[in-house]
Amino acid sequence: MIMPQHFLLSAKARTLSLVQVMRMSDAEAETTFRNLRWPEGVACVHCQCPTVYECRRPTGALRFRCKACRKDFSVTSGTLFAFHKMPLRSYLAAIAIFVNEVKGKSALALSRDLGTQYRTAYVLAHKVREAMATELKGMHIGGAGETVEVDGMYTGGYIKPANHKENRRDRRLAKNQNGKREVVVVARERGGRTLPAVFKTEAQAVAWIKARVSSDTAIMADEAPSWNDLHGRFSVTRIDHSRLYSDGKGGYTNNAESFFSRLRRGAIGHYHHIAGPYLVRYAMESAWREDRSGPGISDSPLSGFSCANAA
Ligand SMILES: [Zn+2]
Repeated sequence: MIMPQHFLLSAKARTLSLVQVMRMSDAEAETTFRNLRWPEGVACVHCQCPTVYECRRPTGALRFRCKACRKDFSVTSGTLFAFHKMPLRSYLAAIAIFVNEVKGKSALALSRDLGTQYRTAYVLAHKVREAMATELKGMHIGGAGETVEVDGMYTGGYIKPANHKENRRDRRLAKNQNGKREVVVVARERGGRTLPAVFKTEAQAVAWIKARVSSDTAIMADEAPSWNDLHGRFSVTRIDHSRLYSDGKGGYTNNAESFFSRLRRGAIGHYHHIAGPYLVRYAMESAWREDRSGPGISDSPLSGFSCANAA
């Protein structure tokens, strides 16, 4: 299955090393960015017309003018980095640092590496995460002969229990929760792709799984009643974790669980503070990394990419 790819996360972009990037002149960085974005040659971002004129502003900034629609655009127009005024080298460096860091990168560490303000690094990190998320958007997994493990991990919404037992409440009841509790649900192909999402409850994830996982897929899930509704659609094997973790016949959800353990240990040192839109971004970032670090890699990095291409 073809995965839509963000140009800054392409195999070619991922082979850029930080050292290579930092040695680039402004012109080389510009050409590298341009070649990554338009490997087939520059096309108009407004109308896709391939005939464009190159012109520079008096400041030296590169602009293109489309022959067909006469509109101007820059190398970053229409990208995540449009309207940001950092040197292109910083964007390339952010990507080199960010995608090569197995466990994720904090904005603070990124700001130190790039010599930028924390705020700038924070925005850059989120831009890269946004690009990673676009690759997972609308992705469908599974299929005939495929096995997908499904599991959920609850997080957030922690309320300190009352000191005296008589003041304690049943936290399982909605009225005693603060509404911040969420569950990251992952659907993970064995030897394949990883698809995470965030819900209020596991039960809410069932419709999402039905929409994103092909119905001829074999599903592995634990004994949580939330997954009962998967049986109508898929062939489902259940593992009662209170009894065993693997039935010896391929029934286990270890891959889904290893995703969660890495998610906990990874980018998210302070995981329980991360909620809402950030939680899903982190989960997607983690999935993106996971699928590109092991044998389940979806495309092999091209070697030999260097500034020479950029000349
Ligand atoms: Zn045009």
